[in-house]
Amino acid sequence: MSKLSNLIEHIRRIALAVVDLIVRFKRSTEKLFLPHEGRVKPEGDIALDALTARFPRYLRAAPGHVVCGRGWYPLVWDLCTAIEALEHLAMPKVGTVQAEERLGGLFIKIDSPSLLVRELARDIEHKAAATCEECGAAGSLRLGHGFAKTLCPDHAKIRKRPYHKMGELEPGQKTRLLFLDAEFTDLEYPQLISIALVADSGESFYCELANGWSPVGCSGFVLQNVLPLLTGGEFMQERSYAGPRLSQWVTDFGCPVRVVSDAPRYDWVLMLDLLLEAVPVNLCPAPITFYSDSFPELVPLLQEARAKSLQSSEGSQHHALFDAQALREAWEVMRLNVHPAILDQYLRQY
Ligand SMILES: [Zn+2]
Repeated sequence: MSKLSNLIEHIRRIALAVVDLIVRFKRSTEKLFLPHEGRVKPEGDIALDALTARFPRYLRAAPGHVVCGRGWYPLVWDLCTAIEALEHLAMPKVGTVQAEERLGGLFIKIDSPSLLVRELARDIEHKAAATCEECGAAGSLRLGHGFAKTLCPDHAKIRKRPYHKMGELEPGQKTRLLFLDAEFTDLEYPQLISIALVADSGESFYCELANGWSPVGCSGFVLQNVLPLLTGGEFMQERSYAGPRLSQWVTDFGCPVRVVSDAPRYDWVLMLDLLLEAVPVNLCPAPITFYSDSFPELVPLLQEARAKSLQSSEGSQHHALFDAQALREAWEVMRLNVHPAILDQYLRQY
C-alpha cells in the first residue's frame, strides 16, 4: 500500500514538474511574442482587474471568483497559466476557477474532471499556506481575535497592534461621537461583512465588503437575516479600498472623535482590523460601550427610539447603517434622561 502511495506521489511530482516546464515555456514565448497585450505576468503587485482580464474564461470579474488578498493573486495567475497551457495540449476545456480565502487558507474550486488540474490547484493551495495574503512575501498562519490569516512577520505585526496612539490635540477641543454598527459572519469566527458609522450630527459612512468573508463562513442567522438586506452596488467595496476611505472619513472631522458601540468586542475590533495601518490619529483609542441594559428604566424608551428610527428610515434591523442610526437615536434618549454628571462619567469610561 505504502509502495503504491509512494509511486502515486512520485507520479504526482513528475506531473507537476512537467506542467511547470510547460508553463515556463509558455511564459517565455508570451514575453517574446505578446509583450504588450496584458498577457505577461506583471512583476510584483498585480491588480485584480488585470488578473480577471487576463483569464476571462476562468475568472469572473470582481466581486466574483477571486476573493482573497492581493498577495495571492500571483498564485492564481500561475494556476490559470498552467490550466491554459494544458488546454493548449488538448486537455478537456476547463470551466470556471474560484479562489477564495477562508479561515486563513486558500480554497480553489475548479470546474474540471481532470485529476492533474485538481493536483495543480492543491499545489497552489499549499503554496498559499506559506505566502502572505497581503503582500506575497513568505508567511505563515497567524491567529488573532476574530481572524486567522496567513501573513508575513510585517503584516502580522500590523494586525497585532492592540492600540494606536492618538495625535496631539488642541486643548478644549470637543470630542465628537460616532455611532458604530457592523455586520459580520459568525460569533465564533467573525469576519466583517458591512460597517456603518453615524456621527452625532447625522453624517454617515456605510460600506459592504467585497472580500475578506464568504457566505460559507456565515451562521444560519446571518444567511437568513443579514445577507438578504445588503444594499450592494456602489456600496460593495474591496477591503483595500474601504479601509483607507473610512480612515479619510474619520480624519475629515478634524477634531477628536470617539466611537460608541453596543458590541465593541466585535464591531470595534473588526473596525480597527479594517483600518489596519490607517488608523486616524483623531480617533480615540477606546470606544464607549453603550450598555443599554444598564438603564432598565430606560429600556422601553430606548426600544421605542430604535423602533422609530428604523421605521422612519424604512430600514431594517441587521442592516449596519440602519442599526447605527438607531443606536444614535437610543443614545439621544439616554442623554436626555440621565443626569449630566452621569453622562460625563459615561463619556469618560475607558
Ligand atoms: Zn505581508
